[in-house]
Parts: sequence; C-alpha cells; structure tokens
Amino acid sequence: MDGVFLTHAHIGHYTGLMHFGREAVGAKDIPVYAMPIMAAYLSNNGPWDQLLRLQNIQLMPLADGVPVELNGGLTVTPIQVPHRQEYSETVGFRIDGPNKSAVFIPDIDKWGDWSTDIRDVIREVDYALLDATFFADGELPGRDMSAIKHPFVAESMALFDELSDAERARVIFIHMNHTNPLLIDGSPAQSEVEKRGFRFAKEGLRLPL
Ligand SMILES: [Zn+2]
Ligand SMILES: [Zn+2]
Repeated sequence: MDGVFLTHAHIGHYTGLMHFGREAVGAKDIPVYAMPIMAAYLSNNGPWDQLLRLQNIQLMPLADGVPVELNGGLTVTPIQVPHRQEYSETVGFRIDGPNKSAVFIPDIDKWGDWSTDIRDVIREVDYALLDATFFADGELPGRDMSAIKHPFVAESMALFDELSDAERARVIFIHMNHTNPLLIDGSPAQSEVEKRGFRFAKEGLRLPL
C-alpha cells in the first residue's frame, strides 16, 4: 500500500492501521495522512503510538482545504465536515485526477449542519461518494437515532431531487450500516435509489480518475 488518508477516529475508519504493526505486516514508513487532532490522537494513545515509534507508519499532516499533491497527477484535498467531534475532527476528501474528480464524504451529521451546500459540491465533481449509513429513521430499534446523526438516504434523495439527471447520476451512496436495506440485492430500497437516478456502491467498485 502506498499510503492512507484518514477521515476521523471512529472505529471503522482507522483501526485497520493495527495491521501495519509488529504483530502483523510489520510495515515500514507507510505514509498516513491525518488532520491535527487525529494525528495527536494516534501519537498519544496506544497501540497507535507504537506504530510511530517502530516507524511502521509515518504521519503526514493535513490541513483543512489545503491540497496534497500525489504521484500520477492526483490531488487530495481534505474538507472538514460536522460529525460528532469525539476523538478527532472529521474530514471528507476531494480527489482530483488528470481527467475526473470525486468527493468522498463517508460521515457527516446532517447536510443542513454544514455551511457548504452539498448540491453545489455535487455540481462540481464527476463522482460524489456520500454518507448512506442509514436508509431511513427508525432503522435501529431501541436506539435514539438523533444521537448518531447521519443524513438518511431518504433525506438525501429528497434534497437532491432538484439536481439534473446527469448530476443525480454522480451520486454514489456509500458507508452503509449493516441495517441499511441498500445492502440487500433486489430490495425495494435499491430499486428506489436507482429509479430516482442515483447509484449505490458495491464491493469492487472502481472509478477512473
Ligand atoms: Zn464516524
Ligand atoms: Zn463512519
């Protein structure tokens, strides 16, 4: 692996770093790009600090809105978003390739909590990979879903309705919780998303940039 860009410190987004460590791959100097609070969190807490001490990984600082140039004409720009600031800040990424561009926002509280209008972001990119943790309210029985805010797919589709057909086709829903019916092949949720002109990610999806 040539490098890793971290969005934030929720378990699905950084704990895979453990596999770079002594007990597993024993990697050497893998560049790991992280925002300031995320980087401090890894530096000051075990077992992550050991990855740094043994130089399995090398932290590369990110700053909100500042592009990072990579090989192959790729540029990655972190975009800070509101999302339960628990152990770190949260970013999405804008990724610009030689031919196409993408935005990757796996976690955000609600679109309306963000000072940027997500519809303007969708208008500027070729692919918009967006938070689809939950399909609709009530999906988690016995849990207060307002304490774990995400834009429901149902809300996102309503908000994006005003986009043109071509713009809606850029939206690829990602980051589904195991309760999200978008994960079930042939489900009414999958057909509704497709009927309304959006897409959803499947394992192995590749997007040329
Ligand atoms: Zn999260
Ligand atoms: Zn997440």
